[in-house]
Amino acid sequence: MKKEKTKERVPFKTGIKKLRATLLAAGGALLALIALSLLKLSPAVCEWMSRHLSRYLVSGSVCQTDWLPFSLFEWLLVILVLAGSVLLIYGIVLLCKKRFFKLLKGLCALLAAGLFFANFYMLTAGFAYNRAPLPLPHSAVKYTGEQTQDIARYFIEDYIALGEKMTRDANGDVVSPYTHDELNQRLIEEYARLDDPYFNGLTPRAKRVVNSWFMSDTGISGIAFAPTGEANVNAMTPASDLPHTMAHEMAHIKGVMRENEANLAGYYILLSSEDDYLRYCGYFSSIRTLWNAVYISNNANSERANALFRDERLARMDAERARANRFWAEYKGPIGFLSDFWDSAGTFFNDLYLKLNGQEDGVGSYDNPSTVGPTDEYDPETGEQLYDYSFSKIHQLFFGIYETKTQA
Ligand SMILES: [Zn+2]
Repeated sequence: MKKEKTKERVPFKTGIKKLRATLLAAGGALLALIALSLLKLSPAVCEWMSRHLSRYLVSGSVCQTDWLPFSLFEWLLVILVLAGSVLLIYGIVLLCKKRFFKLLKGLCALLAAGLFFANFYMLTAGFAYNRAPLPLPHSAVKYTGEQTQDIARYFIEDYIALGEKMTRDANGDVVSPYTHDELNQRLIEEYARLDDPYFNGLTPRAKRVVNSWFMSDTGISGIAFAPTGEANVNAMTPASDLPHTMAHEMAHIKGVMRENEANLAGYYILLSSEDDYLRYCGYFSSIRTLWNAVYISNNANSERANALFRDERLARMDAERARANRFWAEYKGPIGFLSDFWDSAGTFFNDLYLKLNGQEDGVGSYDNPSTVGPTDEYDPETGEQLYDYSFSKIHQLFFGIYETKTQA
C-alpha cells in the first residue's frame, strides 16, 4: 500500500521538476508581455521605443532578409501550418493513449514559445500602433466649396492626361513600364524623400508571394511582417493597384503600423512623384476621395462633385477600376469554392489582430474619414441650411501637394 502511494507520487514530482523550466520561461515571458502592454499605453513611450528600439530591430531583420529571393515570412508560415497540423495529430494520439503529462509538457512549451514571439512582435511592431501621428506634408487650409472644386479639377486633369499616356493591354488595363525589381527600386528612391527620423531608414523590397493564389482567394493584396523585416505582396494584384500596395507594405516596415497611415504614406509617395506611372497609380487608388471633398465643402450637395466625375474622359479609368474591383471580388483559385469562408476568416483575424493592437475600429481603421453635418445657420439669400465640414487626411494630403505644385 505504502509502496504504491510512493509510486504514484514520484512521476508527479519528477514531472513538476521537468516542467519547472518551461513554466518559469512561460511565466517570465507573460510578465514581460504584461509590462510591455502597460508601457504601450503611453504614446510617448511608444514613440521613444519606435525610434530607439523597434527601428533597429526591424532594420536588422531587413539586412538579414532583403537579399533573399523569396519571402522568409511566407515559408515560415507554411512550416508553421504544416508543423501545427502534425502537432495536432500528435496531441490527439497522446490524448488517446492517455499520456496526459507528455501532452501537458508539449502545451506548456508551445505556450512559452508563443509568449516569447508575442514579446518580440511587440518590440518590433506593437509599439508603433500607439506612437505619434505620421508626419507627412499636408495642408490644414479649410478651402471653400468652389476652391475645393478647382483643386479637384486640377488633379482630375492630371489623371486624365496620364491615363492617355499609359501603355494598355487588350482589356484596356495599364501595363507597368517596370519589372518588379525596377518598381521596387523606383519606390525605394521615392521613399528616400521622406528622410524624417520618424521612419526606419531602410526601405525593404516588396517581395512577391509564391502562394499568391491563396491571397487572391482571401482578398489579401499584401502583408508586412516586422519581425522578418519583409513587405510581401500578392503577385496577382492588378498593375494599377500594385504600386500602392507595395508602398503601403513598405510603410509598415518603415515604422508606420496604423493602416490608415500606411495608406496615407503610400498615397503621398505616389501622388507627389514625378514618375508618370506611379502618379497615375496614386490617382487610380485615391482620386475618388476628392468626390467626397467637393461634396462636403458644397453644403453636402453632390451636384458639383457628380459633375466633376461625370467627365467622359474618365470612363476608361472607371472601367479599369471596375475590372480591378471585380478581380478582387470574383477571383476563384484552386480552393475558390471556399472563397467566402477564407474571405470571412481573413477579415475576422485581421480585425482581431488590429483590435489586439489597440485599433478600436479593427478593419475599419484603414479609412481616413472626413466629417460633415448641419449647423444652426442658414444662407440669408437662399434660406438653405448650412453645413460644417472637416477634410480627411487624404484630402489634406492632396491640398498640400496642390499648394506645393501651384506655388512652385
Ligand atoms: Zn496594412
